[in-house]
Amino acid sequence: MASPLDVKLDRALGDRTASAFAKGLGLHTVGDLLSHYPRRYARRGELSALSELPRDENVTIVAEVLEVHNRPMRAKRGSILEVRISDGKGILSLTFFNQAWRANELRPGVRGIFAGKVGDYKGSAQLAHPDYELFPDDGEDPDPAKAEAWALLPIPIYPATSTVASWQIQKAVGVVLDTLGPLDDPVPDAVRHSRSLMPFARALELIHRPLVDADWGAARKALRFQEAFVLQAALLQQRARLREVAATARESGPLLEGFDAALPFTLTGDQRAVGEQIAVDLAEPVPMNRLVQGEVGSGKTLVALRAMLAVAQSGGQSALLAPTEVLAHQHLRSIVRTLGPDLAARLRPTLLTGQLPVAERRKALLAAVSGSAQIVVGTHALLGDKVEFFDLGLVVVDEQHRFGVEQREALRLKGRQPPHVLVLTATPIPRTVAMTVFGDLDISSIAELPAGRSPIQSFVVPLAEKPGWVARVWERVAEELAKGHQAFVVVPAIDRTVTEGELLDAAPAAPMAPPTANVTDVLASLRSNSVLAGRRIEALHGRLPGEEKDRLMREFAAGSIDVLVATTVIEVGVDVPNASTMVVLDAERFGVSQLHQLRGRVGRGGVPGLALFVTTAEELTLARERVEAVASTLDGFELANKDLELRQEGDVLGSTQSGGRSSLRLVRVAKDGELIAEAREVAAGILADDPDLAAHPALRAALDRRLDAESEAFLAKN
Ligand code: ADP
Ligand code: MG
Repeated sequence: MASPLDVKLDRALGDRTASAFAKGLGLHTVGDLLSHYPRRYARRGELSALSELPRDENVTIVAEVLEVHNRPMRAKRGSILEVRISDGKGILSLTFFNQAWRANELRPGVRGIFAGKVGDYKGSAQLAHPDYELFPDDGEDPDPAKAEAWALLPIPIYPATSTVASWQIQKAVGVVLDTLGPLDDPVPDAVRHSRSLMPFARALELIHRPLVDADWGAARKALRFQEAFVLQAALLQQRARLREVAATARESGPLLEGFDAALPFTLTGDQRAVGEQIAVDLAEPVPMNRLVQGEVGSGKTLVALRAMLAVAQSGGQSALLAPTEVLAHQHLRSIVRTLGPDLAARLRPTLLTGQLPVAERRKALLAAVSGSAQIVVGTHALLGDKVEFFDLGLVVVDEQHRFGVEQREALRLKGRQPPHVLVLTATPIPRTVAMTVFGDLDISSIAELPAGRSPIQSFVVPLAEKPGWVARVWERVAEELAKGHQAFVVVPAIDRTVTEGELLDAAPAAPMAPPTANVTDVLASLRSNSVLAGRRIEALHGRLPGEEKDRLMREFAAGSIDVLVATTVIEVGVDVPNASTMVVLDAERFGVSQLHQLRGRVGRGGVPGLALFVTTAEELTLARERVEAVASTLDGFELANKDLELRQEGDVLGSTQSGGRSSLRLVRVAKDGELIAEAREVAAGILADDPDLAAHPALRAALDRRLDAESEAFLAKN
């Protein structure tokens, strides 16, 4: 039987209201409306005496109607109903526009309780459109306790729009709640009791119509747990479904053993541990879905390469998906180098990107479909329809934050059998975010950095207070170049009009403020800066043709370019050990994790790193705080937590990351970590005993409901 929550709003509220709610708020069903929770609760106000009314405050008054008067408005069409009330000590007027009908109930002599915000009309106090409740006309004096309770009743304030007001939502919710049929609770009774949570129907009633403040607090607690619980159950069920299909088990062998033996270094403890987890996953006949997170330079790519060698043992192919052309090229080069000539000749690592010349591209496509290339490295071009593999065993996605669930999905469908999937990310994610965003993946972390990494010193250059320090920045760069090192200068924009990458909004610029730092202007200014005279300074950004970008990166890596002025195209994975210095201009335009990643470009070889974050953001602003947070620590996990505190929730679960899962209304991943973890544990316990939720129909219905059309399609493909 369908749940009352699935009833369409036009049936519950009528066509006109339903269409206003659909257009204005995107609410279509009773369930949508009831989960449109109040943003906050206002008070009617304490009981006041009419003789001493504070202006501009919410007050509640017990009073008697003295006289009522309806008159047409002078300037406009319509009428004003004026009602004068008295509490025996003072007199106050109430006004209602175009509501002459109220004269039928607000008759002289009637007593009641009136609430509103005190306004001023020509020097005397008045309430426009007050709430009121009239006492029954039985000659009895009103019960003071009842009046008090009414005054304290929390008034829900809803997220509203210009077309649908909060009070209209409140009214519609009331209509729906009054006629709501019985509701099944997705949270099993036993769980609910053990956590002292109220039942679902009661929580909905009290979050919308609380009698006292404690009501909505308790209601939110129950609904918040339900939200976390249903989400985790959905993610865990999705994970289980991904594992229902068969994949080819891949047993590692001599290929990987030989590779390990030839490595010029020993694996870190974390690399070995994660390698073990992956080996176990690969050897099972169900698809691996694993996320490996670790700092830039923690050796994730090496871990992925070892997985590819395990797959290659049984003739399987691996595809490595990189976020940019530059990185795809670099991955290919470093894979070839790391494999060494013998293994490279055998596995034939092959590049397949969108910017490849036609003939080369055709060759690469052939190598993929024939199986002669056992490692194929590419960009999103790998997702194209024309790309086929002979025996795709493993897909490695580098830098998850650039790829949505849908892209992962497209690659998964490339194999005849679903391949194993390994996702690498250098953005450390707090555990609870990972659980929410990547809840269908298993998660491994590499926290330990390989030995011999050089320290990185980070400084904020605060131009708001010290505008003169910018000259010192370039002197410092010149000093580094004099030691034979190289520098990156990263800016948010390509020229005065075009920014690149995901940037944060700029603060409103002061009238005389210089334009956003951009490649064109900065390149010109550095080339004419005398402290950098004789240095080779080049520019790199996303508008350059692929081969040009690759050539510039190669030249920079080879040391023939001293300073590279670039946008965030160099953000991820670029590896130039001799680059010691990273200058970021307008640093406040970048996010915390972006700045951290950028900094990871330096200090990669034996050369100590230096990061200078130049910002015009004022002290004590959020923008400045972000930049200072990054300068204050090198610990990516600590920064990830800090980032979470500083960021808007929406960013955390941005649509690309969450793949349509950002249905969280009450749960805040930044604050509710413990709750999320507990909800996951409870959900896992239930699904372990009852994978199809046969004994939990209400939970199953809730899971079905939260799958919008998009995710339904996603699951159907598996
Ligand atoms: P990530 O992908 O996490 O940024 P990489 O796998 O690219 O890191 O490794 C960064 C550099 O460190 C590479 O040059 C790699 O060869 C090297 N490296 C990886 N693991 C180790 C290790 N255990 N000891 C020393 N160097 C390592
Ligand atoms: Mg890498």
